This record gives sequence, structure tokens and C-alpha cells, in this order.
Amino acid sequence: MANPQPDFDAIVIGAGFSGMYMLKSLRDRLGLKVRVYEAGDTVGGTWYWNRYPGARCDSDSYIYCYTFDRQLLQEWQWSERYPEQPEILRYLEHVAQRHDLKRDMQFGTRVTGVRFDDATERWTVGTDRGDTVTARYVIAAVGSLSDSNLPAIKGLDHFKGRWYHTSQFPKEGVDFTNKRVAVIGTGATAVQAIPEIAYQAKQLTVFQRTANYCVPARNGHVDPDVVKARKARYGEIVDTIRSSFFGFELAFIPKSVLETTPEEREKEFDRMWDEGGFAFWLANYQDMFFSAEANRLCADYIERKIRKTVKNPATAEKLIPKGYAYGTKRQPLDSHYYETFNLDNVTLVDAKADGPIEAITEHGIRAGGKEYPADIIVFATGFDAMTGPLKALNVSGRGGARLNDAWKDGPRSYLGLMVAGFPNLFTLTGPQSPSVLSNMPVSIEQHVDWVSDCIAHLESHGKKTIEATPDAQERWVAHVNEIVNMTLMPGANSWYMGANIPGKPRVFLPYLGPEGVGGYRKKCDEVAAGGYEGFVLA
Ligand code: NAP
Repeated sequence: MANPQPDFDAIVIGAGFSGMYMLKSLRDRLGLKVRVYEAGDTVGGTWYWNRYPGARCDSDSYIYCYTFDRQLLQEWQWSERYPEQPEILRYLEHVAQRHDLKRDMQFGTRVTGVRFDDATERWTVGTDRGDTVTARYVIAAVGSLSDSNLPAIKGLDHFKGRWYHTSQFPKEGVDFTNKRVAVIGTGATAVQAIPEIAYQAKQLTVFQRTANYCVPARNGHVDPDVVKARKARYGEIVDTIRSSFFGFELAFIPKSVLETTPEEREKEFDRMWDEGGFAFWLANYQDMFFSAEANRLCADYIERKIRKTVKNPATAEKLIPKGYAYGTKRQPLDSHYYETFNLDNVTLVDAKADGPIEAITEHGIRAGGKEYPADIIVFATGFDAMTGPLKALNVSGRGGARLNDAWKDGPRSYLGLMVAGFPNLFTLTGPQSPSVLSNMPVSIEQHVDWVSDCIAHLESHGKKTIEATPDAQERWVAHVNEIVNMTLMPGANSWYMGANIPGKPRVFLPYLGPEGVGGYRKKCDEVAAGGYEGFVLA
């Protein structure tokens, strides 16, 4: 007997930037029957969940958006250089409405299992709401930073105050007025949240495990003439960011910083510093990520800025990063972060200088043998990045092999798009693709377009499945590691290396270069044009 039709052609997991466009593309371009499952109660993904005070985009708004809808690029008006979370969520709601996306989305539903059936060559997807549906394709659009990391610090159960993780903040917000607040963590999230919380709280204690190099965001309203000029050349901008290294209108200075005079580099550093945003990180001298000596010059510049801004020399010393190269952890953008430590109601507790966190007590946090009282604890402790959200899906592929077993020593994928043994399962912005090392919407659109083209190819060639070969996968994994091992990146205990999660394999998670997102796009396109080299189509 012929197999009955699957319930859907494709299941998309997640309704953030990537899931929304994936649905649009599969449904409206290819005419497929698609269902999106989303744990939140509306679209937005990361911008739905991350509602902490100060949450805003770190990429310039004019390129942190979809480019597939060219009309919308012209119509949408961003209020600032880096819009706040509610504004980005409004934008995504608008896109959902404009493209009638919600009719194919089921909200408040978390996918709990994804299983491949060898006999029917279909996937069965189960959810926490009791759905069990079948589909030919599954696209994981789960985001790279969506599996929160709540560290197992003893004593939290006994804490008498309230506590929150920044990635799951209450919708109604939290009133910090007259409260003693403790923030754990000093990553990009905390750097945004700390100045806002300090402004409201009676007392703020910041628990720092590793100091970060922060550079100024320089947020503000964008000159209407600049906005107009950008709109007039959007076609060119889109081409530039797609072929760039990191998905921005930025490029490295094609010179070694070691070949510059002190005056020359000071002028360049000042220029990037004044420009704000990621220029200092992603458009610095070309050897900044490769040479410890070159990197030191950039780091020294930031150190001088910290010492100049932070009035108490002991606090400044604690805020100066040590033991890893500049730029090898994700660059946090500073809007009054360093100045916040000049306020009388703010205390910095550094794990090295003051002692690490030992326990959460009934009334606060104990670190280095001293108790710091708190009414509210905010965990700005990040995520089990990139692999965490995929592992949480409980995927089993051919022969019942579990993704979590296949990845026990770190992720293995081909192009960051597919995993050998898991046919017709696509991982948008997955590990070993540029993903988090790029301006996300650029990488998201590239992956969505590639997956749509691939599925269109399968459909038009009468193929049922596509699957990465183990050989191609091994070559890709080796290539990803070879490239990153030429840089300073592996030296940092970053979440890029999985180092923030106890027990996680120390493996570089995204893909870096050698020609950035532009070169990666070219590679993916060549693979497709060559008849999907490295994949088996059956
Ligand atoms: P994160 O960068 O992983 O920072 C987490 C912080 O918590 C770090 O300071 C970490 O210290 C600390 N921490 C973790 N476990 C701890 C423990 N057991 N005890 C004490 N401290 C602990 O997380 P995040 O700040 O949420 O940022 C994650 C990523 O989200 C960013 O890197 C960025 O890609 C993205 N993000 C984007 C935006 C934006 O564009 N709008 C804004 C915010 C975040 P260590 O450094 O020692 O691990």
C-alpha cells in the first residue's frame, strides 16, 4: 500500500527572523504546505524572548532587517541607529502581517522530538502540546542563542528575593526602583542592561567573571539625509553586505598595524572609536585576529580608554580584560557601561580580585567569603550557543541515530546546513556556518534562499531526499578547524568555543572565513551549481 500523504511538506521550527522568511519562501515561492511551530506566543524569536532593560540591536538598523522585501526596505523607518527590542519586535510583527505568515504558525508550542522514519523517508515531529505530524522536510530555525544558560550556583532555591534570566524577562518588565539588584555576567547582554538597571536601582552589584573589551555603540537618531541616501542606494548596499566578510558595510584595513607609526594608528583607532559600533572590531587592521603583537596594540588602546573613563583606578583595573586577545570574545557595545561604574550605587565584584561566586544565600550572593545583599538577581549568563537549541529538539535520524550522540564531541556538519545521517533536515545558521560571526539577517537570508533552491531542485528532479556525505562533512569540519586555528580565536574561553558551559566540548562553533560570509555564500552556490557536490540526492 502506498504511504499516505504526509501532513505537511515542511515543518519549520521557530518563528524568528529565519523561520518567518523560511515559511514565506517555501509557501509563497515553492507552493509547499508548511507548518511553523513556535514556543513563544507570537513571532520574533530572539526579539520576543530578550526583553531585558536596554535590549537593543548591535548591528545598524538599516542592515539589520530583511532585504527580500525591497519595497519594505524603502517604507520602513527605524527610529535609531540601533533600535530597541520592542521596535524590532514591531517590525517583525509587521512583516508577519504584511506577508500573512501567522496563518501557518502554531504558537505556544515547543517541539520536543524530531524522528526520521527510514521506511517512509519522512520526519515525524512531536510537540509539548501533543501534536504528532509528518513532513518530508524539517527546517530548524531555532536560532543560535535561544537555549538559556542558568548556571548551577548552589543556593538559588533558598533565595528569598526574585530572580530573572535576561533571555526570559517578564513581559510586564521588572521595577528595580528602590531595590538592591545583583547582575551576574558582563557579556553583551549585561553591558546593555547594567546602565539601565543602575539608573533605577537603589544599589547594583555586578558580578564579573571575565572582563570584556567594550567599545562605544554611539546610538542615536540617524540624520534624515543619511537615511534618504541609503534608501537611494539600497541595491548596492545589499550587494556589498552579501559579499562582505561579516555582513556589514565594513572591511579590514588592508595593512598590518605593526607597519604603522604610533601617530598613524592612533588616528585610525580614534576614527573607528568615534564611528562606534563594530568598526573597531570588524574593520580594524587585518592582522588583529592573527597576530598577538598586533592585537596587543588594539587592546592597549581600549585599556587606555577604560582607565580614562573609570574614575576609581582599582575598579578600572578590574574592568581591564586579561588573559585573552581582544576581539576573540563577542564584542559588547557600550552605551555608558564604563561610566556606570563611577556611580555611587554601583559595586563591581570581580571573581579574580574579590573572589568568585560561592553561593546564593537567602538574602543575596556570597563571593570571596563576603555576602552581597540583593532583592533581585538578574542572570545575564548567556546561552548554550549554537548546538544547545538543536540538541534540545531530540533529533533522531537514519537508523534511529541520535544527533546528540553524533555531536557528543562537538558539532559535525556539512556547510553548517546539513548533518550526515539526517536527510532533509536543514539547520539555518547552524554550527560551522558564519551565523553568529556575521550580521545575522544576511546569513539567515542566504541560508533560507539556499535551502529553498535546494528543495526546489529536489522537487523538480523527482528526488525524495538530500543528505550530506560523511566524507564531505569530515572535510568541512577539518576546514572549519584549520581556518580558525590560524587565528587567535581558540585562545579565549568564549561561548564561540563552548567554554561557557561546563562539560561542553571545546570546539569553535561558527565558521570564520577565509573570505567571510561572501566567500561562504560563493562556496554554497558552487556546491549547488555543481549538482550538490558532497550530498547524495536519492
Ligand atoms: P555571554 O556573552 O555568554 O555572557 C555571559 C556572562 O555571564 C559572561 O560574563 C560570563 O562570564 C558570565 N557567566 C556565565 N556563567 C557564569 C557563572 N557560572 N558564574 C559567573 N559568571 C558567569 O552572554 P550574553 O551577554 O547574553 O550574550 C550572548 C550573545 O548574545 C552575545 O555574545 C551576542 O552574540 C548576543 N547578544 C546580542 C545582542 C544584540 O545584538 N543586540 C545583545 C546582547 C547579546 P565568562 O565571560 O567568564 O564566561
